Amino acid sequence: MAKQILIKNTNILAMTENSGSEAIIGDILIEGQYIKKVGQINDYEQDIEIINGNNCAALPGLVNCHTHGAMTLLRGYADDMELMPWLEQKIWPREAKLDAEHIYWGSMLAILEMLKTGTTTFADMYFFMNKVAEAVEESGIRAVLARGMIGFNDKANTTLKEAKEFIPAWQGAGKGRITCMLGPHAPYTCPPEYLTKVLELAYELKVGIHIHLAETKKEFTDIRKQYGKTPIKHVYDLGLFNVPVLAAHCVHLTEEDIDILQEVKAGIAHNPTSNMKLASGMAPIPQLLEAGVKVGLGTDGTASNNNLNMMEEMHIASLLHKVSWGDPTVMPAYQVLQMGTVFGAGAVNLIDEIGTIEEGKKADVILVDLDKPHLYPCHDIVANLIYSAQGSDVKTSIIDGQIVMKDREVLTIDEEKVKFEAKRYAQMMLL
Ligand SMILES: [Zn+2]
Repeated sequence: MAKQILIKNTNILAMTENSGSEAIIGDILIEGQYIKKVGQINDYEQDIEIINGNNCAALPGLVNCHTHGAMTLLRGYADDMELMPWLEQKIWPREAKLDAEHIYWGSMLAILEMLKTGTTTFADMYFFMNKVAEAVEESGIRAVLARGMIGFNDKANTTLKEAKEFIPAWQGAGKGRITCMLGPHAPYTCPPEYLTKVLELAYELKVGIHIHLAETKKEFTDIRKQYGKTPIKHVYDLGLFNVPVLAAHCVHLTEEDIDILQEVKAGIAHNPTSNMKLASGMAPIPQLLEAGVKVGLGTDGTASNNNLNMMEEMHIASLLHKVSWGDPTVMPAYQVLQMGTVFGAGAVNLIDEIGTIEEGKKADVILVDLDKPHLYPCHDIVANLIYSAQGSDVKTSIIDGQIVMKDREVLTIDEEKVKFEAKRYAQMMLL
């Protein structure tokens, strides 16, 4: 018999189609990697581990749909700059100095921060992805990994080859916690011939594509000038959407673009903080949601956020669209919680495995401690979670049936060592 865990007497927000926005008081039985039962549970094994869920909210783990984890080493290194000078003078020269060990410790720091703020799955695009995968495997988190690829310099073919080797080596690793995608960076860094090659490889390896799309006004105008189409229409005509696509940003869209994204069932990673910090613009998220597009939330890398805290990202997402629309009814709390959980699981193409608390799903569950001054009184748990809760209120985190954090202590990572090494490697990067 696989190991059993019982979360007792907690406020369950199952996030299923029928569960509604009211928490149900009950128990969650986990067996092995899976959720076995949700409800009042009295029938369980003798040697079961029992977690007292009293005065906690139990949610599906948060899904960070877009990040570049190892960029934690660049947190706070260069801020308040225009995008191109920021990239060309600050970010790219430092990134060029990063080696495999930097990526490992930068990723470990990212994972530690994510685990401590409720994220149980993240979609990552960067380089030295073998090292990211090692960090994922060791830490117990779930991840969707893509080797970032730029299609116009001398490295174009090397990175394509790396991605081709990376995917068969890691797809399904960590008992299925790791899935892989191809990661062509963006239409302005990957010419059409290159995107076509990536697409052929996606067919061959049976994987999806994670790409930045329509992030800035400049990208929108340049692509239109170059190809006579919007970025979305451009990649649509290239056939990119014939495989599952996770599109980061989608800030600058036309009505036709929204129709396309709906038609092809694309997953969108909305990164409100990054879009605000880089002044990229306002993604039409309420319209996308209205059209039934799968919109999840992401933090983007820490150089443009500067944290990986999905509790904060949900809060900001809700506020941003209310003020931009001049309408406080836009993006209500429950819808934002859906984006952070179930919609995010859909966007990263894992909806059959995670995103809800129901029988048969993989056991990715977090407990948020409601016994905090800023969470009293509790007229509405969901409102408190979105508008008042902090990432540090996440008390316990279970991923794939394994307790990775209990009472704020991460059990799979040596926190002090990660902080020490990340600081050391960040200093080396500056030399
Ligand atoms: Zn990004």
